[in-house]
Amino acid sequence: MNPKLEARETEKYGKGVFMKNNKKPIMGDMVNSKICLECKRCCIFDDKDSYLAPHLSIKESKLIRRYFLEKEEDFYKIKLEKYKKNKKLLRCSFLREANHRCLIYEKRPMECRIWPFVIGKGKNKGSVYLYVVNSDWCPAVIKNKLKSGDAAESVFKFIKVSGFLDEIKRGERYIWPPEDYYIKIKKLI
Ligand code: SF4
Ligand code: SF4
Repeated sequence: MNPKLEARETEKYGKGVFMKNNKKPIMGDMVNSKICLECKRCCIFDDKDSYLAPHLSIKESKLIRRYFLEKEEDFYKIKLEKYKKNKKLLRCSFLREANHRCLIYEKRPMECRIWPFVIGKGKNKGSVYLYVVNSDWCPAVIKNKLKSGDAAESVFKFIKVSGFLDEIKRGERYIWPPEDYYIKIKKLI
Protein backbone atom coordinates (compact mmCIF):
# COMPACT_ATOMS: atom_id res chain seq x y z
CA MET A 1 0.00 0.00 0.00
CA ASN A 2 1.12 3.54 -0.74
CA PRO A 3 2.72 4.94 2.49
CA LYS A 4 0.61 8.13 2.39
CA LEU A 5 -2.60 6.19 1.92
CA GLU A 6 -1.42 3.81 4.62
CA ALA A 7 -0.82 6.70 7.04
CA ARG A 8 -4.26 8.18 6.23
CA GLU A 9 -5.98 4.83 6.69
CA THR A 10 -4.16 4.21 9.95
CA GLU A 11 -5.15 7.65 11.17
CA LYS A 12 -8.75 7.13 10.09
CA TYR A 13 -9.00 3.76 11.76
CA GLY A 14 -7.38 5.19 14.95
CA LYS A 15 -8.14 4.18 18.51
CA GLY A 16 -11.38 3.75 20.28
CA VAL A 17 -13.36 1.17 18.35
CA PHE A 18 -14.39 -1.87 20.32
CA MET A 19 -13.29 -0.06 23.46
CA LYS A 20 -15.73 0.12 26.32
CA ASN A 21 -16.69 3.78 26.93
CA ASN A 22 -13.79 4.64 24.60
CA LYS A 23 -11.45 4.23 27.56
CA LYS A 24 -10.43 0.68 28.29
CA PRO A 25 -10.26 -2.38 26.07
CA ILE A 26 -12.83 -4.97 27.05
CA MET A 27 -10.31 -7.68 26.38
CA GLY A 28 -6.53 -7.31 26.32
CA ASP A 29 -4.11 -8.94 23.88
CA MET A 30 -3.85 -12.64 24.56
CA VAL A 31 -0.79 -13.48 22.55
CA ASN A 32 2.67 -12.11 23.12
CA SER A 33 3.67 -10.21 19.97
CA LYS A 34 7.19 -11.67 20.17
CA ILE A 35 5.75 -15.17 19.71
CA CYS A 36 3.71 -13.90 16.76
CA LEU A 37 6.62 -12.23 15.02
CA GLU A 38 8.52 -15.52 15.19
CA CYS A 39 5.50 -17.49 13.95
CA LYS A 40 3.97 -15.09 11.37
CA ARG A 41 1.22 -17.53 10.45
CA CYS A 42 -1.74 -15.26 11.06
CA CYS A 43 -3.17 -13.08 8.33
CA ILE A 44 -1.83 -15.28 5.48
CA PHE A 45 -4.07 -17.73 3.69
CA ASP A 46 -3.82 -20.63 1.24
CA ASP A 47 -6.55 -19.62 -1.16
CA LYS A 48 -8.93 -16.79 -1.92
CA ASP A 49 -11.95 -18.72 -0.64
CA SER A 50 -10.37 -19.60 2.70
CA TYR A 51 -12.94 -19.25 5.45
CA LEU A 52 -10.06 -18.39 7.77
CA ALA A 53 -9.88 -14.94 6.16
CA PRO A 54 -11.65 -12.47 8.48
CA HIS A 55 -15.38 -12.01 8.19
CA LEU A 56 -17.11 -8.90 9.43
CA SER A 57 -20.62 -8.23 10.54
CA ILE A 58 -22.55 -5.39 8.89
CA LYS A 59 -21.72 -3.09 11.82
CA GLU A 60 -17.99 -3.81 11.60
CA SER A 61 -18.00 -3.39 7.83
CA LYS A 62 -19.00 0.25 8.28
CA LEU A 63 -15.67 0.92 9.99
CA ILE A 64 -13.63 -0.26 7.04
CA ARG A 65 -13.62 1.17 3.53
CA ARG A 66 -15.75 -0.93 1.25
CA TYR A 67 -13.06 -1.44 -1.36
CA PHE A 68 -11.26 -3.67 1.14
CA LEU A 69 -14.32 -5.90 1.48
CA GLU A 70 -16.34 -8.49 -0.41
CA LYS A 71 -20.01 -9.00 0.38
CA GLU A 72 -21.06 -12.54 1.29
CA GLU A 73 -24.72 -13.12 2.15
CA ASP A 74 -25.35 -11.15 5.35
CA PHE A 75 -21.75 -10.36 6.20
CA TYR A 76 -18.52 -9.16 4.62
CA LYS A 77 -15.13 -10.71 4.06
CA ILE A 78 -11.80 -8.91 3.84
CA LYS A 79 -10.25 -8.99 0.38
CA LEU A 80 -7.03 -10.91 0.02
CA GLU A 81 -3.99 -9.87 -1.98
CA LYS A 82 -0.90 -11.66 -3.23
CA TYR A 83 1.72 -12.30 -0.57
CA LYS A 84 4.89 -11.04 -2.17
CA LYS A 85 7.20 -13.20 -0.06
CA ASN A 86 5.47 -16.39 -1.27
CA LYS A 87 3.37 -16.03 -4.39
CA LYS A 88 1.42 -19.21 -3.64
CA LEU A 89 -0.12 -17.52 -0.62
CA LEU A 90 -2.49 -14.61 -0.08
CA ARG A 91 -2.46 -12.02 2.64
CA CYS A 92 -5.11 -9.90 4.27
CA SER A 93 -5.22 -6.46 2.62
CA PHE A 94 -4.38 -4.94 5.99
CA LEU A 95 -1.24 -6.93 6.64
CA ARG A 96 1.89 -4.88 6.11
CA GLU A 97 4.42 -7.32 4.74
CA ALA A 98 7.51 -5.29 5.68
CA ASN A 99 7.01 -5.66 9.43
CA HIS A 100 4.11 -8.12 9.54
CA ARG A 101 1.86 -5.71 11.36
CA CYS A 102 -1.85 -5.07 11.06
CA LEU A 103 -2.69 -1.62 9.71
CA ILE A 104 -6.02 -1.55 11.53
CA TYR A 105 -4.90 -3.23 14.72
CA GLU A 106 -7.04 -1.02 16.96
CA LYS A 107 -10.08 -1.70 14.78
CA ARG A 108 -9.34 -5.21 13.61
CA PRO A 109 -12.36 -7.45 13.17
CA MET A 110 -13.62 -9.46 16.11
CA GLU A 111 -12.43 -12.70 14.52
CA CYS A 112 -8.88 -11.35 14.55
CA ARG A 113 -9.33 -9.94 18.02
CA ILE A 114 -10.31 -13.25 19.61
CA TRP A 115 -7.89 -15.46 17.62
CA PRO A 116 -6.67 -18.17 18.48
CA PHE A 117 -10.17 -18.57 19.86
CA VAL A 118 -12.80 -19.16 17.20
CA ILE A 119 -16.57 -19.34 17.02
CA GLY A 120 -17.60 -22.62 15.43
CA LYS A 121 -20.60 -24.82 14.81
CA GLY A 122 -21.29 -27.64 17.27
CA LYS A 123 -22.41 -31.18 16.42
CA ASN A 124 -26.05 -30.48 17.29
CA LYS A 125 -27.95 -28.43 14.73
CA GLY A 126 -27.95 -24.73 15.58
CA SER A 127 -25.42 -25.05 18.38
CA VAL A 128 -22.45 -22.69 18.46
CA TYR A 129 -19.34 -23.04 20.61
CA LEU A 130 -16.29 -21.09 21.58
CA TYR A 131 -13.20 -23.11 20.65
CA VAL A 132 -9.48 -22.51 20.71
CA VAL A 133 -7.37 -23.88 17.84
CA ASN A 134 -4.72 -26.43 18.77
CA SER A 135 -1.04 -25.63 19.05
CA ASP A 136 -0.28 -27.01 15.57
CA TRP A 137 -2.15 -23.93 14.37
CA CYS A 138 -1.08 -21.45 16.98
CA PRO A 139 2.01 -22.09 19.11
CA ALA A 140 0.83 -19.45 21.58
CA VAL A 141 -1.98 -21.73 22.77
CA ILE A 142 0.57 -23.86 24.65
CA LYS A 143 3.10 -21.11 25.40
CA ASN A 144 0.48 -18.77 26.85
CA LYS A 145 -1.64 -21.56 28.41
CA LEU A 146 -4.67 -20.13 26.64
CA LYS A 147 -7.06 -23.05 26.91
CA SER A 148 -6.68 -23.37 30.67
CA GLY A 149 -6.05 -19.78 31.79
CA ASP A 150 -8.15 -16.65 32.24
CA ALA A 151 -7.97 -15.88 28.51
CA ALA A 152 -10.89 -18.15 27.64
CA GLU A 153 -13.05 -16.49 30.28
CA SER A 154 -12.15 -12.97 29.08
CA VAL A 155 -12.93 -13.93 25.47
CA PHE A 156 -16.25 -15.36 26.57
CA LYS A 157 -17.11 -12.13 28.41
CA PHE A 158 -15.96 -10.02 25.45
CA ILE A 159 -18.21 -11.95 23.06
CA LYS A 160 -21.21 -11.22 25.26
CA VAL A 161 -20.41 -7.59 26.15
CA SER A 162 -19.38 -6.53 22.64
CA GLY A 163 -22.61 -7.64 20.98
CA PHE A 164 -20.77 -10.35 19.06
CA LEU A 165 -23.16 -13.01 20.43
CA ASP A 166 -26.20 -11.00 19.33
CA GLU A 167 -24.76 -10.74 15.82
CA ILE A 168 -24.28 -14.52 15.77
CA LYS A 169 -27.89 -15.04 16.89
CA ARG A 170 -29.19 -12.64 14.23
CA GLY A 171 -27.17 -14.50 11.58
CA GLU A 172 -25.08 -11.48 10.66
CA ARG A 173 -21.84 -13.24 11.28
CA TYR A 174 -20.12 -16.18 9.70
CA ILE A 175 -19.66 -19.20 11.98
CA TRP A 176 -16.73 -21.45 11.20
CA PRO A 177 -17.36 -25.07 10.20
CA PRO A 178 -16.38 -27.82 12.69
CA GLU A 179 -12.72 -28.87 12.46
CA ASP A 180 -10.53 -31.52 14.11
CA TYR A 181 -8.06 -28.93 15.29
CA TYR A 182 -10.56 -27.12 17.53
CA ILE A 183 -10.52 -27.61 21.29
CA LYS A 184 -13.94 -27.01 22.78
CA ILE A 185 -14.14 -24.30 25.45
CA LYS A 186 -17.76 -23.34 26.07
CA LYS A 187 -21.23 -23.49 24.54
CA LEU A 188 -22.44 -20.09 23.31
CA ILE A 189 -25.79 -21.05 21.78
S1 SF4 B 1 -0.81 -18.38 14.85
FE1 SF4 B 1 -0.70 -17.74 17.00
S2 SF4 B 1 1.49 -17.42 17.48
FE2 SF4 B 1 1.24 -17.51 15.21
S3 SF4 B 1 1.06 -15.37 14.56
FE3 SF4 B 1 -1.01 -16.14 14.90
S4 SF4 B 1 -1.57 -15.68 17.05
FE4 SF4 B 1 0.66 -15.45 16.79
S1 SF4 C 1 -7.32 -7.39 9.87
FE1 SF4 C 1 -5.28 -7.30 10.74
S2 SF4 C 1 -5.21 -8.98 12.26
FE2 SF4 C 1 -6.95 -9.35 10.90
S3 SF4 C 1 -6.17 -10.73 9.30
FE3 SF4 C 1 -5.99 -8.60 8.57
S4 SF4 C 1 -3.90 -7.98 9.11
FE4 SF4 C 1 -4.42 -9.80 10.31
